[in-house]
Amino acid sequence: MNLTDFSSTAFTAVCCDDVMTSADVNLLVVEDEPFLSKAVAASLRFLGFQVTAVENGSDAVRLARSRRFDLLILDVMLPDIDGFEIVRRLRADGNQVPVIFLTAKDAQDDKVTGLTIGGDDYMTKPFELEELVARVRSVLRRSRPSAPEPVLSFADLTLDQDTYEVRRGGRLVELSPTEFRLLRYFMLNPGRVLTRAQLLSHVWDYDFGGSSTVVSTYVTYLRRKLASDGPNLIQTQRAVGFSLRMPWPGDEPSHGEVRSGSSDDS
Ligand code: CA
Repeated sequence: MNLTDFSSTAFTAVCCDDVMTSADVNLLVVEDEPFLSKAVAASLRFLGFQVTAVENGSDAVRLARSRRFDLLILDVMLPDIDGFEIVRRLRADGNQVPVIFLTAKDAQDDKVTGLTIGGDDYMTKPFELEELVARVRSVLRRSRPSAPEPVLSFADLTLDQDTYEVRRGGRLVELSPTEFRLLRYFMLNPGRVLTRAQLLSHVWDYDFGGSSTVVSTYVTYLRRKLASDGPNLIQTQRAVGFSLRMPWPGDEPSHGEVRSGSSDDS
């Protein structure tokens, strides 16, 4: 997909084919073209990255000095401080955050400049969102050698973030992209009670302003698909949310048998 023919249909395709990411990766996107900024940020958010987007160099420097980011995606031509200067300033502070430059320029000397002053990669506009995502992952793999293994496991459940395969007791379980993202988030946080708001913001990437029926609905779907091979692993914590753990005596008998809507939401 080229950014010039970016459409919601194409966007869905790139998003859902490519779900594997680390939920706790923080990216800063610095781009003054609103359309491009929105497309890049939305695409990366949908893949589970935490994305902050700003439109100028001073905001970028201020933010990068005050918060830890795993990677900057940095336009070179900005209305105030250019992308190269942003990196010079950060490197002068000792900040070694990885950087991918975005630029309309394709001259070789710009590329050399970018990489010499500490950029990790460089993309020339227009570019394909898929290629940006691939480069983001590649830079993150290099810069985060301790990045988590692709296969998550809990009890007899495994989830492969590279192949998107989920198995329970060795049996393949077919999940929709949303169910996969929901289960992945539970498996990244085993034993922890996750509120509906947390699930909405990490799995759906938006805030429903209180209407969280969709979370209960998808937990229900997931339980049904996982329940045929063993005890329920996603427990309801009344009035709070849900947690991935083995059932305890006294847990609600949620065994894939889902009572509609409100009882789950109590
Ligand atoms: Ca620009």
